Amino acid sequence: MRHASYVPPQFSVRVDEARCRSCHLCVRQCSFGALSFQERVTPQEGSCAGCLRCAAVCPAGAISVAPNLWPLKPNGFWPEWAVRGIWQQAASGAKSLTGCGNDKPYPILWDHLLLDAAQVTNPSIDPLREPMELRTYLGRKPDRLVPGEALQPQLELEIPIMFAAMSYGAVSLDVHRALAMAAREMGTFMNSGEGGLHRDLLSCGDRIIVQCASGRFGVDPDYFRAAAAVEIKIGQGAKPGIGGHLPGEKVTPQIAATRMIPVGTDAISPAPHHDIYSIEDLRQLIYAIKEAVDYQKAVGVKIAAVHNVAAIASGIVRAGADFITIDGFRGGTGASPLVVRDHLGIPLEVALAAVDRRLREEGIRHLVSLVASGGIRSAADALKAIALGADAVAIGTAALVALGCRLCQRCYTGRCAWGITTQDPELASRLDPEAAALRLGNLLRAWGLEIKEMLGAMGINAIESLRGNRDRLRGLGLDSLTLDILGVQPAGR
Ligand code: SF4
Ligand code: SF4
Repeated sequence: MRHASYVPPQFSVRVDEARCRSCHLCVRQCSFGALSFQERVTPQEGSCAGCLRCAAVCPAGAISVAPNLWPLKPNGFWPEWAVRGIWQQAASGAKSLTGCGNDKPYPILWDHLLLDAAQVTNPSIDPLREPMELRTYLGRKPDRLVPGEALQPQLELEIPIMFAAMSYGAVSLDVHRALAMAAREMGTFMNSGEGGLHRDLLSCGDRIIVQCASGRFGVDPDYFRAAAAVEIKIGQGAKPGIGGHLPGEKVTPQIAATRMIPVGTDAISPAPHHDIYSIEDLRQLIYAIKEAVDYQKAVGVKIAAVHNVAAIASGIVRAGADFITIDGFRGGTGASPLVVRDHLGIPLEVALAAVDRRLREEGIRHLVSLVASGGIRSAADALKAIALGADAVAIGTAALVALGCRLCQRCYTGRCAWGITTQDPELASRLDPEAAALRLGNLLRAWGLEIKEMLGAMGINAIESLRGNRDRLRGLGLDSLTLDILGVQPAGR
């Protein structure tokens, strides 16, 4: 039963009446119902999500939105998030939901890792004058090369950055279109996520990794055949160990057709795959899919970064996967219980290092490629991930930020004011897929240039030479145990 909320508004919205032209644009554009017009623009601050759409569209620069100071007496043990959460739940009696990634101030290990630079004895390379190779291949490599013998299927990436899994349903169809266009332009891949592939995108399948998740949404032989590769989704960094739920009101006729479910029904992904309870079961599914694609496409497995991730990854390699995506606990999500997103799983940095080390120790690292996702914010993060052992990285939240996402974390409402995580036709029309593709392409282009610059400074001319090369990393301000897990020396040594 709902009860009165004590929760104070998170944001204050100020309208400068001297500037306001009463055009109503902000009122029409606010998808959270935080503005109305009653002789003047009137904010309902309790509804404001902090998405900043109103301030961006106002032609007069008359609106400003700012976070409110928490009004309670400072209390080191009872911070705002704890009190706010209790008040919300005491009013609603429901789980707190959220979208986007974990925003808790846990240590960010990327920011405590530094890349080496070449000086005197190992000269640096000028990427403007000399070729720099960013191409990389994902897939199983043989124990030794035999002339004339074909390799197992490989994904060829012109840049070691892909777009992470985001389902049609969580994001709009035009976001999927934009990702596909950008992936084609940049010679990389997007990932369908677990919601199937809209028929308009089947023709772009050669740039798309399709997912087979516990709900089996949209899965049929054509879906696999259209794709560049298939990924079995076991887990997701933002909500490891739990399933997903797309409410029926978001299951439009198009989403229903894509997911192959009735219109208006809840799309529930079970927490586990009901046919996978062991590595042997996983192996059966991997090989069932390989059979379905005539062994012509790589089949990978995505797992969340969890405590025993290295042992799990070892099993997945032995089950026959061609690539493993490791998704860290900072990964984004369309919707997750807040308590799960913020408290389950481990950071990508340590998970990646632990997996790479374990597979090397077991002599099976070459049998699989590693994709790092869930917490890559910059070209530097990407390069550090590769030095820690990744073959490539995948970006989700960073891609959405490139499209205009303001990190308001209200994706789960389906009311994204920027037209990204919504199926509302009016809201979705705010995103122009052509312009969005251009922005995504520009982001990858810029990161590619920065990666070349950093590689050149390190005296390395091919990205594959950096993979797992932890000697080119140093830790700053990390304890000795963390350094040991990362396999990295402290700065100065
Ligand atoms: S968009 Fe700006 S000018 Fe138009 S009504 Fe809102 S505050 Fe006034
Ligand atoms: S995608 Fe939209 S709703 Fe989600 S965090 Fe970004 S701006 Fe907010």
